[in-house]
Amino acid sequence: MGKTWQEVNLLLDQADRILNCEDPAPHEGPFHVGVDLGTADVVLMVVDPRGRPLAAFLEWAQVVRDGVVVDFVGAVDIVRRLVEKAQARLGVEITRASTSFPPGTDPRLSTNILETAGLDVDRVVDEPSCVGHLLDLDKAAVVDIGGGTTGTAVLSRGRVIFSDDEPTGGTHITLVIAGRYGLSFHEAEERKLAADDPSILDLARPTLQRICDIVANHIAGRDVRRIILSGGTCCLEGIEAVFTRELGLPVKVPSRPLLLTPLAIASLA
Ligand code: ATP
Repeated sequence: MGKTWQEVNLLLDQADRILNCEDPAPHEGPFHVGVDLGTADVVLMVVDPRGRPLAAFLEWAQVVRDGVVVDFVGAVDIVRRLVEKAQARLGVEITRASTSFPPGTDPRLSTNILETAGLDVDRVVDEPSCVGHLLDLDKAAVVDIGGGTTGTAVLSRGRVIFSDDEPTGGTHITLVIAGRYGLSFHEAEERKLAADDPSILDLARPTLQRICDIVANHIAGRDVRRIILSGGTCCLEGIEAVFTRELGLPVKVPSRPLLLTPLAIASLA
């Protein structure tokens, strides 16, 4: 049984409050762990059986590109570090976790990383489908706009009936900003995240329109009445209005777009 939109937003706010918090919070009893290996960051989240976040750790990293692991050793090291932090905070031993992958890419890339980091893999489900399972959705599409890719999952009565992924995401917006202002990728990324520059949305608009074209193709011919946006790129101020206008459908953005997929992965069990 999925959760309501309000419930999920409260859980996301809770995850955000404890993000990268190493203060001890001893936990007894069962828990589930999710690891989101993204193109821009790796997130490990631990939730209790009711899906409430107990620990959440994020490290920015360039270990995956377009669904391909470009720094396997780096990814394994990050997962080990995040596991250690979560173990220290909760006073538990973490031996297993669920993970995810962009639709259409090889799930073994993610499972190999977890296994090499010493974890048994509980479940491995594509990113937008994880969000689809978390929320009780009907006639809706989850669009996960991460760093490197945009993935769509179409849901009917809580079941994923289609999912696909294409290599366009926040990284492309950062490259446009870098080109416009003559900045390095890193500097452009900082400028994008600062969120105090109204020209960013204008610079991002062509990439966002391209992403809307991708989504329009994904949902064409399917009964989709609303769009749920997920992924870090959906933190961009004004993205909701762009999608609403381009796709002609109601669009919802969660309170913490960066944490929705990690929460959904951790809640898979
Ligand atoms: P993918 O889903 O492609 O594998 P990922 O899982 O690493 O990548 P996310 O963590 O969902 O992706 O999102 C990362 C992207 O979100 C990056 O491009 C980052 O620049 C962007 N991002 C994060 N925070 C913000 C923000 N506040 N404003 C704009 N973009 C943001």
